[in-house]
Amino acid sequence: MTVKHTGVFCYAILLVLLFNMDFLKPRPAEASHQTVPEHYISMEFDLQASSLKANSRIDLPAGLNLQLNLSRLNVSRIIINGQSAETDQTNNFLDIPPSPSAQEILITYSIELQPDSSPYNLISTTGITLIDSWYPIADLEMLFKLTAHIPKEFEAVSEADVIITFEINDTKQVTFRFPHPLFGINFIAGPYIVTEENFSEDKKLVAYFFPEDQQLAADYLAKAKNYLERYEEMLGPYPYDRFSIVENRLPTGFAMPTFTLLGQSVVRLPFIVDTSLGHEVLHAWFGNGVHMSPKEGNWVEGLTTYLADQSFASDKGEGAKYRKEQLVKYQSYVRPDMDLVLRNFSNVGHGNIKGQPTRAVGYNKSSMLFHMLRNKVGSEVFTDSLRDFYKRLKYKTAGWSDLRTSFENVSGMDLEAFFSQWLDRNDIPLLSVQQAEVINKDGYPVVLFSIVQKNETPYVLDVPVIIKTTTEEIRKILSISESQSPFEIPMATVPEILIIDPDYDLMRELAATELPPTWSGFMGAENKLVILPSEDHRILYRVLLEQIEEAEVKIMLQDEVTDEDIKKNSLLFLGTGKISRALFAQPDHPEDGFTLDARTNPLNTGQVAVLVSAANQEQVERAAGKLRHYGKYSYLSFKDGRMQEKNITETDSGLTIKLVSLPSGTETSNQKSFADIIAQLSDFSVIYVGEGHTNYEDHLLQLEIIRALYLHDPQLAIGMEMFTRPTQPVLDRYLAGELDEKAFLKESHYFKSWRFDYRLYRDIINFAKHNNIPIIALNLEKDIASQVFKDGGPNSLDDEDAVLLPADRKLDEPGYRERIETAFMMHAGQGQNDDFSSFLQAQALWDETMAETIVEYLQNHPDERMVIIAGQGHVDRNNAIPPRVNRRLSVPQTVVINSHGSATESETADFIFFSPPASLPPFPLLGVMLEDTEDEVGALVTALNPQGLAQEAGIKEKDIILAIDSEPVNDMEDIKIEMLYKEKSDSVLVRIKRKAFLFGDKELDIEVPLKSAAKVHHM
Ligand SMILES: [Zn+2]
Repeated sequence: MTVKHTGVFCYAILLVLLFNMDFLKPRPAEASHQTVPEHYISMEFDLQASSLKANSRIDLPAGLNLQLNLSRLNVSRIIINGQSAETDQTNNFLDIPPSPSAQEILITYSIELQPDSSPYNLISTTGITLIDSWYPIADLEMLFKLTAHIPKEFEAVSEADVIITFEINDTKQVTFRFPHPLFGINFIAGPYIVTEENFSEDKKLVAYFFPEDQQLAADYLAKAKNYLERYEEMLGPYPYDRFSIVENRLPTGFAMPTFTLLGQSVVRLPFIVDTSLGHEVLHAWFGNGVHMSPKEGNWVEGLTTYLADQSFASDKGEGAKYRKEQLVKYQSYVRPDMDLVLRNFSNVGHGNIKGQPTRAVGYNKSSMLFHMLRNKVGSEVFTDSLRDFYKRLKYKTAGWSDLRTSFENVSGMDLEAFFSQWLDRNDIPLLSVQQAEVINKDGYPVVLFSIVQKNETPYVLDVPVIIKTTTEEIRKILSISESQSPFEIPMATVPEILIIDPDYDLMRELAATELPPTWSGFMGAENKLVILPSEDHRILYRVLLEQIEEAEVKIMLQDEVTDEDIKKNSLLFLGTGKISRALFAQPDHPEDGFTLDARTNPLNTGQVAVLVSAANQEQVERAAGKLRHYGKYSYLSFKDGRMQEKNITETDSGLTIKLVSLPSGTETSNQKSFADIIAQLSDFSVIYVGEGHTNYEDHLLQLEIIRALYLHDPQLAIGMEMFTRPTQPVLDRYLAGELDEKAFLKESHYFKSWRFDYRLYRDIINFAKHNNIPIIALNLEKDIASQVFKDGGPNSLDDEDAVLLPADRKLDEPGYRERIETAFMMHAGQGQNDDFSSFLQAQALWDETMAETIVEYLQNHPDERMVIIAGQGHVDRNNAIPPRVNRRLSVPQTVVINSHGSATESETADFIFFSPPASLPPFPLLGVMLEDTEDEVGALVTALNPQGLAQEAGIKEKDIILAIDSEPVNDMEDIKIEMLYKEKSDSVLVRIKRKAFLFGDKELDIEVPLKSAAKVHHM
């Protein structure tokens, strides 16, 4: 039974509980096929006192030595071969040395259960459960003969093929007979209703359910019968005469020989009959029928998981999904530095968080081993090998080597290397595809690629591959054994996608594109940080915090968290606060109940970030206990502790590589006139017209659209990326005619903050001015975005600047990161800060600020439409400004761009124009590099273009420009503004100050001709 679904424990934990560690030593060889010791136990109960009294008699054959563990027993008498022995209660162990003749050991003892003395034992009027150290436990296998006296209204179960019951007065005597030696037995009794039927002709299938759950029995019997028949057909006859399903007052999920013991809380879960029940039934063959050898590690759970849980998922067509979940779980919990190898897995470990890595190896990796083994030898040989194994080793102990022997004998293959690489290595294959390309040979496509193993030592693997072409899917198995294995596959039609291991047939590390963010991804992460918005949240989420404490989480209040903390850790936000809003905006969680929402940390895609919200403390308490069953999910919502919604974020199926995208096109008969498109555009509230900032044809298109829309309906405003929000008053004054253009450019610091040739925007702005169309400055102060970029996050901003940021910023808008990353790669190495996450944060700040400004304007002017003028990257309809506006205000929006021949245009815009290229006459440039002087007037020449006009006219480095055509120059901006008006001039008179070594500073007027301006395009 897997903890994932039910939180109960599997049979193997029992072995550990029942047997002291000496059990794990090799068994003495002479014990194997000699006469077996017999252990008679007779006991009676005092249910009120939670106690039992019992006698054990052990008949020990000649030549055998025996050690008995008496801990937890109140021993009152020991008689060995008729002689009283000391009952030293300080020594928990009784050693019986071998004797040439048979020996008899009699022990009288009692047990009084204290509350909490063991979570597995119970003696009460509602039922009896004895599965943990309740009789003298031996280090040898024995034949047990158990007799118990129980209340008349109780029924009892133990490992038995035969159960004999007598009623004596008001008690019942039950005797159990079982012909196979066992290391230990268990005893269960209670006021059961017993339902019985037959399977496999003369074998008995029995249900022991409490009266209140009796209605569940029929389904359990029917399903158990199916499982018994399924595995008899697959593996050979069920090894015993009876199989019982027994309900337990305690929360267990165990498989014992002849029965399974399921907790009352467990049997009531609706999915148990379809999952865990089959797993426990199968343990009759593997685990009980064939026991695992403690020396050789536990193969039982992997094989049982594969033939039960995995196989049931496969029956529903969900085998690949199930295996992927196994790999996700493994990857969430297991890291190479834990040095967990499958061969060392012996027990289940804790059902809690600390046991998860061990379980991921012992169940999931092990189950994958059997899956790969089946693919290697073929289904038929696989089943035949298991039948052989079961037949040879029924009622015996077996290890991995016995399994290998059966598989090698039946298949005729040498499987040493196969078993060894999966049992003895602590890493798993990490595959990638490199140098994938498609070439043409004689008119047909050929796919070339290399499968690369990033492991230090390469694995030997059979890698399933699909190549999807325009017309078909081609499947291949590619064998690899090197670090790099090149392949060349000729195709008949165009190959579009290559997928490595599409059905998760390999135990391997998943790529980021395959790995969904999950709750277990957080719980298994190496560095876990819990972020609380305030101390109140510590109280609200107290129960959840207590539960995750053992997973070694760090807990911080949001004000203590640095930008670096956010990037380094996997995050858990308990409640929405300023940091979660700066990464994910306001999550769309239901208001009542409890929601857990795992995302990828947008600043570090290797980590998860989990957003949790809850209506109140009670909702947290009712949901928290259930979370550990739902580790594989990305999104969970509970109400009053009941599951409302659960899902796993969709990721690629298999390692997916795009090969060829054939170009798409459009039918020219669909082409529309400018007027038709304008008619359509006027239905929208926000019309984005994107631009390449220096493409004049884009600005002409913006102007035409504004003009046409204005004609259509003058209720129009223009939003511009080019102006930051604090410049709005200057813009307003210019539009109102209170400033001339020079003053406007100077006061708005246009050239400092935007820099691009003002003539590109001049007509748009002046058209607005003449027609009283408001222009809205959309952008965030440039300095703030630069500081965020430089410092790697908004943490270093002072309070005054921090309040200017939009509080809700969604960094994980789908596709955003990928697009920004492409832009970043193009600029990488140029900036002060090559850290991509800072770049992403700065970009999102711009897009969110512009969206926020647009929404504010529309809310205050609901009757107006807006044309938004911004760079093409900001108007992407999928993930730039438009969805961020929509998140804040639902309005009809549309995106218009000019075609630049890029294949993605039709995905990012709604309307595409084909404007002819256009350009402005060249801007008159002096050919100087300038810097502002510190406290003097003028602008300092720091360099000259050797082919430039200033150089030719005699201006020198370190000259300070004081005036242009008598207009004084205070800084660089003034020069740019002055030059804007020299488009048609023949020359300008530049007044400079030149430092002279001996004679002090002198001022000179130098005439710079502009005639050859046309030749000079750039500084
Ligand atoms: Zn199991």
